[in-house]
Amino acid sequence: MISFEAARAKVIEIVSARVCAAERETIDLSVAPAAALGRILAENVVADRNYPPFNRSIRDGFAVCAADLAEPGAKLRLIAESRAGVAFDGTLSPGECVRILTGAPVPRGANAVVMHEYTREEGDFVTFNQTARPGQYYVLAGAEARVGEVVVPRGARLGYAELAVAAEVGHARIEVGRRPRVAILSTGDELVSIDGAPGPFQIRNSNNVSLAAQVALAGGMPIDIGSAKDELAELRAHIERGLQSDLLLLSGGVSAGKYDLVEKVLQDLGAEFFFDAVAIRPGKPAVFGRCRDTFVFGLPGNPVSTMVTFQLFVTPAIDVLGGARPRPLPLLEANLTKTLHEKPGLTHFLPAHFEWTGISPEVCPLTWQGSGDIAALTRANCFIVVPADRQDIPAGEKVSVLPRLDVI
Ligand code: AMP
Ligand code: MG
Repeated sequence: MISFEAARAKVIEIVSARVCAAERETIDLSVAPAAALGRILAENVVADRNYPPFNRSIRDGFAVCAADLAEPGAKLRLIAESRAGVAFDGTLSPGECVRILTGAPVPRGANAVVMHEYTREEGDFVTFNQTARPGQYYVLAGAEARVGEVVVPRGARLGYAELAVAAEVGHARIEVGRRPRVAILSTGDELVSIDGAPGPFQIRNSNNVSLAAQVALAGGMPIDIGSAKDELAELRAHIERGLQSDLLLLSGGVSAGKYDLVEKVLQDLGAEFFFDAVAIRPGKPAVFGRCRDTFVFGLPGNPVSTMVTFQLFVTPAIDVLGGARPRPLPLLEANLTKTLHEKPGLTHFLPAHFEWTGISPEVCPLTWQGSGDIAALTRANCFIVVPADRQDIPAGEKVSVLPRLDVI
């Protein structure tokens, strides 16, 4: 059985080897800027001019020639003002200074900005009680980006900073990759739809809802294809529908029970499997394979297992299918506030609450009833990752924490 790290690496390796350039869509930032958030850039965004376009002051004060301030106490004639949007277009001569505001162009002839806190203004003259270093308090034209330089590369995930840069350089119509289509299919004779009335031994299909949310969060387009009974023909028909997408997620039916038929049906359809168990709890029976050119995950049906295995294995697959580099697993470190006793052999993911109230982050494991306990998850904002070789971890020790990215 492979470790979760090896399983993740396998997913990334296999999907990367097969993926071809995704179709593109155009998003107009001037119409719907937030629609581009989280999308994967399908082209390079290039600087249309130098940034900053002029030597830009980063302080309020006076633009000077540093050589004029060789000694503290120098007095210079105030000849003009340069503010953001309204520049002084003249040239500074020796013995002169220009009032300058943050964001304004530094005039020709000046090579330093002195903060107004270190000056005294009297009539047309300003006295400087400090010397100045050439180059201080302004950014040289082109220091942030040169004209023609790639400022956001193809494959980048568009966050608020990337969108701001695209806006800054006037790249309003952005080409992004189409979101990977991710079919979601639950399996189980016990399932009814969420608007149905469950019988005494039935449960509502909540996994299709959590999976749709996780797919959207990961950057995919969820396609709900409902649920199938634990019965070969029905399962096969549903899986065949799911295989029309870029990725098929199945929940349930991957354990070793008599009614766990997912692997059998996939096998009958000619699937190739890359792993069919991972050394984790919850989530051990997770399966990853490919069937008729569609990647398939069989995730265990217990809701917390489904959620954990999605975050570990499906997220990187969606990254790669969408044309992005896989995001690293966002593990944090925190001080454990309660002693843990876990069975060794598997890496455990325990629902927990992470908080940073004092001088260091702390994490508290929560009471839960195992991988069927979705209610416990609503009190958790992360999972503590307990390594397979650790049985007892005393309170106060640092542990790895996997945040729930939807709530942190
Ligand atoms: P399985 O992996 O098929 O053995 O499912 C394990 C357990 O997870 C089932 O007994 C159900 O209690 C629960 N379960 C399975 N599928 C779903 C689902 N779609 N929504 C909510 N709970 C589920
Ligand atoms: Mg089942």
